[in-house]
Amino acid sequence: MSEKRTEISEIGEFGLIDHLNQSIKIKHQSTIKGIGDDAAVIDIENERVLVVTTDLLLEGVHFDLTYAPLTHVGFKAVAVNISDVAAMNAIPKQITVSIALSNRFSVEAVDALYAGINAAAEHYGVDVVGGDTTSSRSGLVISVTALGEVSKDRLAYRSGAKENDIICVSGDLGGAFIGLQILEREKQVYLSNPGMQPELDKYQIVTGRQIRPEARMDIVYELKDFNVVPTSMMDISDGLASELFHISKASKVGVTIYEDKLPIDKQTFDTAVELGLDPITCVLNGGEDYELLFTIDQKDFKKLEKHPDIHFIGHVTKPEGGKNLVTKSGTVVQLKAQGWQHF
Ligand code: ADP
Ligand code: MG
Repeated sequence: MSEKRTEISEIGEFGLIDHLNQSIKIKHQSTIKGIGDDAAVIDIENERVLVVTTDLLLEGVHFDLTYAPLTHVGFKAVAVNISDVAAMNAIPKQITVSIALSNRFSVEAVDALYAGINAAAEHYGVDVVGGDTTSSRSGLVISVTALGEVSKDRLAYRSGAKENDIICVSGDLGGAFIGLQILEREKQVYLSNPGMQPELDKYQIVTGRQIRPEARMDIVYELKDFNVVPTSMMDISDGLASELFHISKASKVGVTIYEDKLPIDKQTFDTAVELGLDPITCVLNGGEDYELLFTIDQKDFKKLEKHPDIHFIGHVTKPEGGKNLVTKSGTVVQLKAQGWQHF
């Protein structure tokens, strides 16, 4: 055994995945895309492909049952996977659900979890086709795998953005992060004084964004209706800045976005200010919004221009252009990819 020990924190989550990827060799021609995008892409017929994605959620790391009801945890576990299918511009069809349970969980608790899983399966039109159940020493672990289909000419990778494309995001950003700060704050208040009832009424939008996120399948269906294929796409799970870095790297392009175009909900803005946080930093680096980030060719702009929930935040440049944010005062600052640090 070698003496060398490298801490995972030295290379980070993405560095670790890159590292693992180097040890993996693709054997089949039908494996069109392996590691490195929102979902793997597998050839099934001449015209269509299968996309496959999986995510692992751990109690205490990805969800906290002191404020997230089991039913919402079940819904979220499905939604985050559907979001990765949406990010490929594909239509989800099946999921598998694997769970590990400690003896703290009863049949009724598992029923509550599955009420959310089944509600999400219904909502996104997918079948639950299998999974695995095992015991855990501590807490709940949920892993969902989602399968989706898309015709090859509609598939959207992270890698297709080209100079002069327009950068778009759906919905608004930063809400899930702000929601988490509120839930954590109220949890601390409750823990230090269990007699106190949490004050959550005025924060329902942001806490909802954190506890029960939506995958933007509606945008995928609308892009199809408008006959638009994004040149690149991914979902915003780690934060806008981090995802722009992924698109920039995969597409070998630069990106410029404009502060005054960034979509933020009023409640997110007001709560950020209340918490002493910079709202724009929350928009750029808050995670778990599960909105879609995509680029479109200029020729498609007219088709989406009037869409109430698609925002045009910037444009794609030559790689030498770098990754920039133009502030409201017109100053150009370099984007930093902070994202989530799990390690
Ligand atoms: P997402 O936020 O969309 O879930 P990730 O950053 O988790 O994306 O994953 C990026 C890519 O790395 C995906 O292609 C995913 O399948 C792959 N990946 C992540 N973890 C592993 C692992 N432990 N082994 C192999 N591939 C992995
Ligand atoms: Mg993942």
